[in-house]
Amino acid sequence: MAHLKIEAVQCHLTQPDTQRLIVVKVLTSEPGLYGLGCATFTQRHMAVKAAVDHHIGPFVVGKDPRNIEDLWQSAMVNGYWRNGPVLNNAISGVDMALWDIQGKLAGVPCYQLWGGKSRPAAAVYVHAGGRTPAEVVEGVRRWTDQGFRHVRCQLGGYVGQGAQHVRPDGAPDGAYFDAREKLHSIPALFEALRNELGDSVELLHDVHERLAPIDAVYLAKALEPYRLFFLEDLLAPEDIDWFRQIRAVCATPIAMGELFNHPREITPLVSERLIDFIRVHLSQIGGLTPALKLSHLCEAFGVRTAWHGPADVSPVGMAAAVHLDVAMHNFGIQEWSFRKDRELEIFPGMPEVRNGYAYPNDRPGLGIDFDETLAAKCPCDNDNPTWTVSRLPDGTLWRP
Ligand code: MG
Repeated sequence: MAHLKIEAVQCHLTQPDTQRLIVVKVLTSEPGLYGLGCATFTQRHMAVKAAVDHHIGPFVVGKDPRNIEDLWQSAMVNGYWRNGPVLNNAISGVDMALWDIQGKLAGVPCYQLWGGKSRPAAAVYVHAGGRTPAEVVEGVRRWTDQGFRHVRCQLGGYVGQGAQHVRPDGAPDGAYFDAREKLHSIPALFEALRNELGDSVELLHDVHERLAPIDAVYLAKALEPYRLFFLEDLLAPEDIDWFRQIRAVCATPIAMGELFNHPREITPLVSERLIDFIRVHLSQIGGLTPALKLSHLCEAFGVRTAWHGPADVSPVGMAAAVHLDVAMHNFGIQEWSFRKDRELEIFPGMPEVRNGYAYPNDRPGLGIDFDETLAAKCPCDNDNPTWTVSRLPDGTLWRP
């Protein structure tokens, strides 16, 4: 196969459930040889599709799909300006597809390309939420009864609740929350969880950047007695210098990164050992090529991986994550959201979860496929997200 070439790049949009998913298919000059990649930026799906259809796709067509490193590097700088979420996702769609092709060419699963398995399967964490601590305890028990040992616990979703907001006249629409209310309700939640559940389960919590930096320092300290597996997204990317203060005052494990686009947002936190888990969204940083490098960088500094895995990562992206999870020595945990039957029909080959572990299949490449005909029957809506417009009680916009 001396003259293998990329023949075409397709960008597919589909919405089998609540999230708009973006899947890139790279076709080659070898009949039947193609790869799949995830480019899901669900809130800006049309912008990613345009970037694939008009820029990244035409740039790689005619080139050798085996030269993944050169294609990734050149696609990233070809437009001169770089490292934005739309472009990174578009590049990720192609990049994951090229690794899928590379595995198919070698006749091995992708994890074999990266050194083989460090473990048979990846431990996953799931989500429990409720309006009261008692409801959250019940939610955790439902998971542990099914064999799960890691559960993320949220009170009232991301936004929090309990405070009676007194809004000023003329307050605009938005997802209102009271940041200060979390400072007592979240420690009380974890006190109740430990009292009811003991130490039999690992507990996690996601702050979703909804605290002022000094309040984030307070919360990390206040949660220390409850021995969290990790505390996630405690600070907005704009406030990451505050991690030094958090590190100085407590040993609560810190996970960070789903909003990161640029390597320089990540490297200081890793090299200064200010976080314990890197939690980037694989397509948001540009795919598997940068994720492999990031994994190795993190290993050198004792930081473990916890790739973002909610419903707005497509099953192709989840397969990519699980291949990394079983291969990388410094794997920490994998976030998991279960998909409904229709989504599983569109994406045959989704890694299976049994007893709290995700297993990649042993098919060549990423081991996942895509039914374009079924996917086309689930067109995307164009609704604007509302949860991202979060506001403090007086109406001030807050970064979600
Ligand atoms: Mg999060």
